Amino acid sequence: MKKWKDTYDLVIGLEIHVQLDLFSKAFAPESNAAEAPANTLISPVSLALPGTLPVLNNSYLDAAIRLGLAFGSEIQEACFFDRKHYFYADLPKGYQITQDGAPFCKGGNILTFIDGRIRPVRLDHIHMEEDAGKSIHDLDPDHTLLDFNRAGTPLLEIVTTPDLKSPEEVSACIDAVQQMVQYLGISSANMEKGMLRCDCNVSLKPKGSDTLGTRCEIKNLNSKRHARKAIETEVHRQIAILDAGGEIEAMTMSYDAKSNKNLPIRDKETVHDYRYFPEPDLPVFYISKETIERNRRALPELPARYFGKFNEEFDLDPDQAVLFTNSLAEATFVSGFLSWGPDPKFLANIYVQKIRPWLAEKGWKTMLVKEKKPAIVKYCNLVENGQISASSGLQELLPAILENAAADVDELARKLGLLISADTGSMESDIHSLLTDFPAKVKAYQGGKKGLIGFFMGELMRRSSKKPDPVIAKSILEKMLSR
Ligand code: ADP
Ligand code: MG
Repeated sequence: MKKWKDTYDLVIGLEIHVQLDLFSKAFAPESNAAEAPANTLISPVSLALPGTLPVLNNSYLDAAIRLGLAFGSEIQEACFFDRKHYFYADLPKGYQITQDGAPFCKGGNILTFIDGRIRPVRLDHIHMEEDAGKSIHDLDPDHTLLDFNRAGTPLLEIVTTPDLKSPEEVSACIDAVQQMVQYLGISSANMEKGMLRCDCNVSLKPKGSDTLGTRCEIKNLNSKRHARKAIETEVHRQIAILDAGGEIEAMTMSYDAKSNKNLPIRDKETVHDYRYFPEPDLPVFYISKETIERNRRALPELPARYFGKFNEEFDLDPDQAVLFTNSLAEATFVSGFLSWGPDPKFLANIYVQKIRPWLAEKGWKTMLVKEKKPAIVKYCNLVENGQISASSGLQELLPAILENAAADVDELARKLGLLISADTGSMESDIHSLLTDFPAKVKAYQGGKKGLIGFFMGELMRRSSKKPDPVIAKSILEKMLSR
């Protein structure tokens, strides 16, 4: 993979299709539930029976506007829908309602996290489109089965400029889209369930050239792994052609995971003239300033804001900041948690090491941690004041605090024998009785076997009721041994 990068630049543009978790379909009233027995969620509108008319679902438009605003795009004042025609068995209407001529939103940026930094990927536009039904080829040996539940489900298609340079960036960009729609609560964006799919447009150009090469499009990638593999495979295919002096032929392909190959989609129907024309059943519509502002007010704090907060305000390293930004629920919780009083970096560390895994185990019931705020703050103070050691605190006391509902932290620390004592008087008497118990070892030490200090320290720690401060204990021990 190294050498071709000296000769070519890889250029990738994405078309990401997100299926929205709305209550009803894009232009029809029936349920949009993701999982239901086949062909139970169909209305005459979705089947385009004569006399039916589509009506735009308002919550679909709201979700669309929110995503546009979240990416900093420009919401268009006037937009309309088009019909995109093709013939396929799972497309009962013979066309999809989409936006070709006047999408609702243009420009903006997907802010991706790459190598601990935010890198914007420019958007060309986002448009609204209803989905087709589903053809199922692998359930019956002789027939293709059709499920029309998906017909008419609301999609948003996010189209980037050819701005991406590597499969890693593609993956980060998909992550960012998933994260954003999850923050907005408009889609689970689960790729395994087909809630997010991605077309990758791939081309190569001579290194440093301003002119883009001819692109090939790999359709319908349903995992980040497949997207990465499909791009890598496509790069090698194109390099072989270009190195041999050939030209790339624009092509639409589909990735075959079994053979790890991109296969051209050959069927005549998709060598397309979609015969777009404005959808006559839906009038041109206008998005008012009020509608835009209403949706702007409904936006949560967005991932980049949280990242900035964690990285700059709390001065955490970028990897931690990215981790905490993961989901809206986690970001909200952590930003509250880091403000509890103790050093935010210290809090961030105990969160990553103990609290986060514990929460994951408890199904992210953050309330369980919030109600332990006084105990956790107390714990932090004990460590900060050197009353317990950071490592034994983390391994023993903090887990005990998490597991015990109404825990008195001092009491717990004492029970676990973790309180460090700087009481030199009691230390001296402990050491005195220790040395009396092991006269032979004391002799050996005094005779030169200085390694025995480890034995004495271990023994002292084991016997002492209050945990002695190891540094102080060692110095007293050495003094008393050399008497
Ligand atoms: P369509 O695929 O519907 O014909 P466009 O021509 O607008 O639509 O292109 C769609 C996608 O192709 C966009 O994501 C864009 O970034 C990408 N793209 C366009 N030109 C190139 C290129 N030369 N190399 C890689 N991707 C490209
Ligand atoms: Mg395309």
